[in-house]
This record gives sequence, structure tokens and C-alpha cells, in this order.
Amino acid sequence: MSKAKVAVIGSSSMDLVVTSKKRPNAGETVLGESFKTVPGGKGANQAVAAARLGANVYMIGCVGDDDYGRAILKNFADNAVNTDYVEPVTGVASGTAHITLAEGDNSIVVVKGANDHITPAYIDKAMKRIKECDLVMIQQEIPEETVEYVAELCQELHVPLLLNPAPAREISKKVIENATYITPNEHEATVLFHGQPTNDALRAFPEKVMITEGAAGVRYFDGVKEVIIPSFKVEAVDTTGAGDTFNAAFGTAIAEGKGIVESITFANRAASLSVTGFGAQGGMPTREEVERVLS
Ligand code: ADP
Repeated sequence: MSKAKVAVIGSSSMDLVVTSKKRPNAGETVLGESFKTVPGGKGANQAVAAARLGANVYMIGCVGDDDYGRAILKNFADNAVNTDYVEPVTGVASGTAHITLAEGDNSIVVVKGANDHITPAYIDKAMKRIKECDLVMIQQEIPEETVEYVAELCQELHVPLLLNPAPAREISKKVIENATYITPNEHEATVLFHGQPTNDALRAFPEKVMITEGAAGVRYFDGVKEVIIPSFKVEAVDTTGAGDTFNAAFGTAIAEGKGIVESITFANRAASLSVTGFGAQGGMPTREEVERVLS
């Protein structure tokens, strides 16, 4: 089978992770225990996950002209993600997430940096590539006008669009109409539906809105009834990146021409495996690993 072609339009960043016993108060300095850098960003995470799951992935995004940008590009190359359309932006820092793990919880400051340069004009440069793809995946760590532009473009080009509305923000009616699939988690769904998503609300978006509900799996309306496809029972050690793995796997399966139920089952399997490993990209499984446990 030839590989499905998937374009991921989204953020890439470097996560700077500090562990500390104590979280510093304003004006205070504390000594931390460890520090590491790990590649992240929802776009990059989904691109890497989709490549591991067997898609031909074309990342469309921006990095800074700094060491983090070069490390982000190397990580894409190590994971066989095509970066013809990942541009280093002169004089701009790469996106970064400054994460402090302390007192059993995390606090995060995100600096968008080069990710803010993923504009509609930048998307135009990658138009030819987008046209050739079986599916486009997009998230919300990039400018809102770009998401709106891509949604319209995909509609015009007849390329299916998977919108993962994370992090949560209001989505225009036009984007909801133009997207083929929308995959909020439970919190993002309350923003999308202006409150708890009732059965009636879901009915308005048959086979379009798929709500991911952690270990419980996925809920959607199939045109006749509400369907829940449970996830798989696993020993969860770190749920970071579960949603990214779910989206990458769902998008890859749909791009391969699989049906919705089969695609969600594949994605639940991939995402459940991802929570058994540490870190977002660290826990993302390969195609072989998913198929081994599905068969
Ligand atoms: P997010 O990571 O965006 O908050 P969810 O928590 O809804 O998203 O998780 C996305 C998907 O990951 C779920 O639909 C499910 O397939 C899988 N998943 C998440 N947590 C678990 C878990 N504890 N056990 C099994 N599967 C899980």
C-alpha cells in the first residue's frame, strides 16, 4: 500500500523543562534539580506521531534562526518528517514552552516566537504541496486568521481538513462548516459548544465532531445515534501528548481511506499506547507497535 500524504500545518517549539522541589514565588530564587530540552508544539508532535504511524508527512511551519530551530529541524529529520516548508525566520526566536515541574504540578509559560509567522501568505507558498495531500491536520497554536484561511482553502481544494481545536478558543461558524473533522477534548468541547455538549448539540455535527474523553474514549453522532468508542485499558504513566497521538493516528487512518469507526479504533489504540510512555513524543508508538496489539 502506498503511504498516505498528510500535511501538518502548525506549531513547533522547544520545551525547556525544569524540575524543582519548590515553585519560586515572585521575587524568589530557588535551586532546581534537573533541566532538559525536548521538542514539542502540537503541530510538531502530531507530525512526528503521524510519521511514526506510517504517513508521508509534510510539516508546514516556522522556526527561529537559532539553535532551538536547528534542533527542531533535526528532530523532524530523525523522524522522517519532510521540512521543505519549515522556514527559519530571520531575527525571530523559535517557539518555546518554559515548563516548571514542582510540588506535583506543572506551570507553563509559552512564547509563540516563530509560530506567529505562519500567516496566510506563508501558507500560499505551500499551496502546491497542500493540493497533493490526502488530508491536512491543523491545531490552534498558530494565528487564528491562518486557521480560517486554511479551512477555506481546504474546502476549495477538496482536501479533507482535521481541526484539533487545541488549545481551546472560540471557533467561527465558517471554520466549523469548512472543517471535515473537529476533535476537541472535553474542555475544548465546552468552549466549542458554549457549555457541556449535549446529545442534541452533537447531533448538529454528524461524523464531524469527535469528542475525546480520555480513558473513556471518543463520543460522536453517526447520523442516527450517539456512538461511544471506548479506549483500551492500559497502565497510564504520562498522558502528555495523548491528544496529539490520537489526532495523528485518526488523520493517518482517514487519509488511508479507512472508515470512521476503524480510524477511531486505530487512534484510540495508538493514543492508549502513548500514555504508557513518558513525554509527548517519547511515548508515541510506531505503526508496527499499534498493529501488533490490534491484531
Ligand atoms: P488530550 O490529551 O487532548 O486532553 P484526551 O485526554 O481526551 O485528550 O485523550 C485523547 C485520547 O487518548 C483518548 O480519546 C484516548 O484514546 C487516549 N487516552 C487518553 N488517556 C487515556 C488513558 N488513561 N487510557 C487509555 N487511553 C487514553
